[in-house]
Amino acid sequence: MKKLNIVLFGPPGAGKGTQSTFLIEHYGLVHLSTGDLLRAEIKEETELGLQAKELMDVGQLVPDAVVIGMIRNKIEANLDAKGFIFDGFPRTKAQAEALDAMLNEKLEPIVAMLALEVPEEELVKRLLGRGATSGRADDQDEAVIRNRIREYESKTAPLKDYYGAQGKYKAVEGVGTIAEITARLVKAIG
Ligand code: AMP
Repeated sequence: MKKLNIVLFGPPGAGKGTQSTFLIEHYGLVHLSTGDLLRAEIKEETELGLQAKELMDVGQLVPDAVVIGMIRNKIEANLDAKGFIFDGFPRTKAQAEALDAMLNEKLEPIVAMLALEVPEEELVKRLLGRGATSGRADDQDEAVIRNRIREYESKTAPLKDYYGAQGKYKAVEGVGTIAEITARLVKAIG
């Protein structure tokens, strides 16, 4: 059967993690979130985690080689998966190119890049709300949140063109109830 490899895309606070939970169950996919993988490294106090934390705490991206290596390990450990949902990866053109190369070598290409669209002020509101309960330091400081959004706009948003050129970019309105947004994503997957 054809694999369903999807990139769930959007700025911090767009709802990628929330929507992943449903998509994973519905389609039986393996979830790959580089943010979650990095936070696990921080919790275990690994060398990689300690280095990543300094960048994450100020809202900057960690180096491409670090996240590409993590994704490669996870793909290789799950080659029999029905498909992958990439959440928070790729975030730069170099990451997108590395992902394409890995999938072409081992599996099947990305079928769609679903981009959740949410206005900036709504993102800031959501992230500060999440920070109040999640304990994530990077969600508790408005300056760090705005820096993450700047990183997204300068380094990550250009990937819309990268996937657009492959005919895979699909914009999805990311404001509404969780169920409404899920329904839009399922429709976009087709
Ligand atoms: P997230 O949980 O996806 O919001 O990621 C939290 C933080 O982890 C980001 O602000 C970055 O510092 C770092 N991070 C997560 N994924 C990546 C990635 N693909 N490339 C670079 N940095 C990342």
